[in-house]
Amino acid sequence: MTERKKALVLFSGGQDSATCLAWALDAFDEVETVGFAYGQRHAVELECRDRFAVKLRARFAQWAVKMGGDHTLDLSLIQALGETALTSDSEIAMGKNGLPTTFVPGRNILFFTAAAALACRRGIKHLVGGMCETDYSGYPDCRDDTLKSLQVSLNLGLDARFVIETPLMWRDKAATWAMAYELGGQALVDLIVEETHSCYRGDRTQRHAWGYGCGACPACELRANGWDRYKAAG
Ligand code: ZN
Repeated sequence: MTERKKALVLFSGGQDSATCLAWALDAFDEVETVGFAYGQRHAVELECRDRFAVKLRARFAQWAVKMGGDHTLDLSLIQALGETALTSDSEIAMGKNGLPTTFVPGRNILFFTAAAALACRRGIKHLVGGMCETDYSGYPDCRDDTLKSLQVSLNLGLDARFVIETPLMWRDKAATWAMAYELGGQALVDLIVEETHSCYRGDRTQRHAWGYGCGACPACELRANGWDRYKAAG
């Protein structure tokens, strides 16, 4: 009997991690999800992740049977470590270090470390995250090299054989929309548009072709630009 392949998806409620969740449900036998509460300036993403998961189960029977537990971990220490535009009302802009002020130092490293500890307890080998270094905001902890080296460190430190999967690493945002279409057709694209959230400002009052958002922050610009190129490619 072959072992059931299990994955834990870092699912934030954004476009990228929602696409990764669909990817994992396609690729693995059993998929659990984890979200992190870290004092985000708006709870919109966390609300989106619940609605997205409920509708995903309802609309995709082939995936519903594979969806296991959902976990929320409190990482409020990120907020305690200091102010960023993601966890306070400070302005979203480009900082002196060349990174947007939304940058939370080491966030993805903390996320994967916490996820690995959880996966250890749950007997899960594959950790899936939506990090991407193709068109991104320049966060150093989204880079492939960072995550490859983190995989080695986690495996040594936890005496484990985790595999960190980042299916979006070499895709731009247009290709991420195309991937959603390949995985779940128009129904999945529609669900991602409607029920995922990327906007740093947490704006759900303005509805665009690509979903809700202020339309002006770096995350909205990336999402809108990717959507336009996806639609242009037909
Ligand atoms: Zn926005």
